[in-house]
Amino acid sequence: MDEYALLPKKNFDELVKRFTNSFQIYGPTEKDGKFSFDIISDPSELRLDISGVPILPPKKILFPPEEVLFTYEIISNDNVKINDPLDEIKKKKQVFIGIRPCDVQGLILLDKVLMDKTPDPYYVTRRENTIIICITCDNPAEYCFCNFTRSGPLIKKGFDLLLTDIEYAYFVEIGSKTGENIVNSNLDLFQKASKEDLTKRNRKIHEIEEKMSKIRSANLDELYQKITSIFDSSLWDEYGKRCLACGKCNFTCPTCRCFDVYDELDLTLKKGKRTRKWDSCHFLSFTQVAGGEIFRKERTSRVKQRIYDKYCYPVDEFGSIFCVGCGRCIQVCPAEIDVREILKKIIGM
Ligand code: SF4
Ligand code: SF4
Repeated sequence: MDEYALLPKKNFDELVKRFTNSFQIYGPTEKDGKFSFDIISDPSELRLDISGVPILPPKKILFPPEEVLFTYEIISNDNVKINDPLDEIKKKKQVFIGIRPCDVQGLILLDKVLMDKTPDPYYVTRRENTIIICITCDNPAEYCFCNFTRSGPLIKKGFDLLLTDIEYAYFVEIGSKTGENIVNSNLDLFQKASKEDLTKRNRKIHEIEEKMSKIRSANLDELYQKITSIFDSSLWDEYGKRCLACGKCNFTCPTCRCFDVYDELDLTLKKGKRTRKWDSCHFLSFTQVAGGEIFRKERTSRVKQRIYDKYCYPVDEFGSIFCVGCGRCIQVCPAEIDVREILKKIIGM
């Protein structure tokens, strides 16, 4: 298989249009001056030029903020009818066009939990039905730090096609059999990429790296060594006092996947549904157990938990940090807590 191809810009819209026959298409789009990753019905709705990332990551499509797992109806004492939405989910096929490298890495990390460790049939089905056409960032935002977390600006896996804007065309890296099939079934739209095109792409990536914030001078091994030794540091009190426990950092994070599950029965007591909803480790209720005991009463302990659950515990469990440097938590935090500042302090301790 050819590793690379070239997609002239004039052919991009036609490629997107060809997907619309069989797939739901999602991509970065603008509504009322705000960017989101949402359904698009026409290529003109795509905003591939945005700086940074849409505020909610594409995880919201594969693992929705709230979802009914099943509904049930009690027909008689020994007959309960259960409706599982999985068959409907299986019918939907989708393409993510314009997903950023950091968000692709976010999906790779979610896969470790929701596909490999404890397979979640809803997530797994949606994930397997999703084609990933990633585009490298042209214009990283001031809060982006994927160069530190090693999740951008260039990624090596997790995509079917990886597009980089090299002015006269998109340089296309083919990342899977699916990606190869897309190119081969649309040969009238793609061209062969030359060595000069590849050089141009690599130069472009280098230019993007140069624009990004510079906490990359520290390294992740150093961070892990330090963080394992400062569990009782007063650093956590400083951020515990500032944190408002709003949970926005969790909800916007591409790798947070904690949820609550609750049952609702209708007034006949014969029908009901089971729903899951995103939860946040910053909420007081998160560690509340039967009998009312709460294990992390202080905000300090909850701030600390979140940082350890990004940069320490997953290294032990999955072999990598669970932060992709998207900077969303920095952008949305009403208390202006900047995770890069915390990391710098930890590394400097
Ligand atoms: S911790 Fe913050 S910067 Fe890291 S992946 Fe989550 S939202 Fe993005
Ligand atoms: S967004 Fe900021 S204030 Fe809200 S829970 Fe996260 S760290 Fe605390």
